Order: sequence, then structure tokens, then C-alpha cells
Amino acid sequence: MKSCIFCSIVKGDTPAYKVYEDKFSMAILDINPFSEGHCLIISKRHVCAGGTS
Ligand SMILES: [Zn+2]
Repeated sequence: MKSCIFCSIVKGDTPAYKVYEDKFSMAILDINPFSEGHCLIISKRHVCAGGTS
């Protein structure tokens, strides 16, 4: 698998401000927020829309 920023955040290799976490997902503050408090919710399992990795 190629380097994936979201997997890196889930593993803790890339720092992020975590606002929520459970068994399957994590919510972090966006590094470049659209508005104040903008969060990203990411799956802890790598999912590729293209189906190649
Ligand atoms: Zn990933």
C-alpha cells in the first residue's frame, strides 16, 4: 500500500488533534478548516475507492 495520510494519523505517526475515537473511526480537526471546528471523520480501516490498494 502506498503511503496514506489517514492511515498514518490512525497509527499515530502523523500528529492530529483528535476529537473523537471509537473502535472503527476517528474524528480529527481539519488542518485547513473550511470553518471553525471543521472535523474530518475517518475510517480506521484503509479503504480505496479505486480498488487498487
Ligand atoms: Zn489509508
